[in-house]
Amino acid sequence: MAGGLWIGGMTPHEVRIPKSTQREDLVLRAKVKDLEHHMARLSLLNQALWELIRERAHLTDADLEEKAREIDLRDGVEDGKITGTPVRCPSCGRVSNSKHYRCMYCGLEFEKPVMG
Ligand SMILES: [Zn+2]
Repeated sequence: MAGGLWIGGMTPHEVRIPKSTQREDLVLRAKVKDLEHHMARLSLLNQALWELIRERAHLTDADLEEKAREIDLRDGVEDGKITGTPVRCPSCGRVSNSKHYRCMYCGLEFEKPVMG
């Protein structure tokens, strides 16, 4: 067997996972560190936004939880995640997911939704 790809039906001893090079490891570690930094920043900003809104609009944590559940259920599945919705491309007419910002088929850039 050549390469390191998983082929359905192969027994575990036939599976070859390619060893990553030291360079690839360094690149991946840098990407993870960058994502962790962005995640921490987004969490901080999210908390700051919520505290400002809660205070100024006289909302409660229960209001936030209720809204999050409502949004979560928009796709009919309560899984703690926001799910993209199908978007028909105005150029080629094929359907992509709204979480992508461009058509998966012709590459047309969609108007970016604020969230989700
Ligand atoms: Zn398209």
